[in-house]
Amino acid sequence: MNTSDFRKHAHELVDWMADYFENVEDLPVLPDIKPGDILKQLPNSAPEKAESFDAIFKDFKDVIMPGITHWESPNFMAYFPANKSKASVLAEMLMSTLGSQCMIWLTSPSAAELEEQVMIWIREMLGLSDEYTGVIQDTASTATLSALLTAREKVTNFSINKEGFNEQKFTVYASSEIHSSIEKAVKIAGFGASQFRQVSVDENFAMRSDILAETIEKDIADGFTPVCVISAIGTTSTTAIDPISKISEICKKHKIWHHVDAAYAGTALVLPELRWMAEGVDDADSFVFNPHKWMFTNFDCTAYFVKDPVALVNTFTITPDYLKTSVDEEVKNYRDWGIPLGRRFRALKLWFVIREMGVEGIQKKIREHVALGKWLAKQVIDHPDFELMAPVPLNTVCFRFTSAKEDRLDDINEQIMNTINKSGRLFFTQTKLLDQFTLRLAFGNTNLEAYHVENAWNLIQEVSKIHKQDA
Ligand code: PLP
Repeated sequence: MNTSDFRKHAHELVDWMADYFENVEDLPVLPDIKPGDILKQLPNSAPEKAESFDAIFKDFKDVIMPGITHWESPNFMAYFPANKSKASVLAEMLMSTLGSQCMIWLTSPSAAELEEQVMIWIREMLGLSDEYTGVIQDTASTATLSALLTAREKVTNFSINKEGFNEQKFTVYASSEIHSSIEKAVKIAGFGASQFRQVSVDENFAMRSDILAETIEKDIADGFTPVCVISAIGTTSTTAIDPISKISEICKKHKIWHHVDAAYAGTALVLPELRWMAEGVDDADSFVFNPHKWMFTNFDCTAYFVKDPVALVNTFTITPDYLKTSVDEEVKNYRDWGIPLGRRFRALKLWFVIREMGVEGIQKKIREHVALGKWLAKQVIDHPDFELMAPVPLNTVCFRFTSAKEDRLDDINEQIMNTINKSGRLFFTQTKLLDQFTLRLAFGNTNLEAYHVENAWNLIQEVSKIHKQDA
């Protein structure tokens, strides 16, 4: 493709992208297709001969688009959002045009220095202590694994990196509501799933710090070495807030690494009125949140903050001759701050987003989303046919339909969800709370407005009425 063709096609694509943003709300959120429907339309082998860009773009529209789940739709209320903003999409265009591989300072000095500064901005925006140093990672899963590996090396004086595991048995702690990425990280870091303690939660689905303290003490008495406690500001099911302050205290007492997983809810700390959630976070050792979830920066972009960056770098550093540079003593070579060597220029999109929205613009959106969560929670509480299943500190609402025989409630709630999701008008998912099938809606989409939430609630009531007659 020559540059003039590139210019022409890029303009076509940008027009298509702008149309998509304008119309996505009218598209079915979930595609109405069966497994294999897309695969069977794709050729078995790669084309021998070059194809025209027009042919490729046509197939994108005809074959690929019908199988897309529209995360961009404000009617997407499933999981946690992977939200974005137009400024972030434009920055991604520049990132891929530059193709910078930001493994060391020399391979893109602007990328390294912008990352350093943007992470200072974010630290201030969230009200975190300046004892934290930030680095951008691809996902919260990677950041949490980095925290576990650093904690492991720190507690063993970097001996596992050198000699591998010996007889010493380590333990890791999190609540029973923690995200699956933590369990995965425990396995990958070599601790063994049986050394992972899932501490029970209270009636608000937050970790019981008294049980954490007892479990740690028993483990120490039994000869284990506790390595890390992972707490959550905003669990995946219900956005429960663990007692960060008490957990930090316990960790300090026993010299255990405290890692705070705020993958989704971390963005809400831009609001001073919500900083109560993070009380004690400045006494922790590391903190992670995903701008790619709720800070309008498209996937992937994770902000990881650590108190002891020297320990982090010592855990990962390996300097082959071909990566040495004359400025290594003066600069941050971020390849040593995480697992992969290669790194995208993610700081660029964060910089675009923060500047284009301003801190006030981000705060305004987050405030609106939280207000919508509270609004739906109130509707549910006031409705005789529904029950709120968990507190709503932010914008994720867990509830269920209850006007039917108890033994049919799980099935009916599942049917309500499936009927609505199949309609394409809304997409949300379920969770299980106290062993009960629970409807769960999260309101973090960039373009979400009050009427989307009102429509969602009306639809749920409408479909539930049918099931009430059936019950
Ligand atoms: N932690 C929590 C609380 C989450 O909700 C999620 C994802 O939803 C993760 C971690 C994992 O995030 P990532 O996909 O960035 O690894």
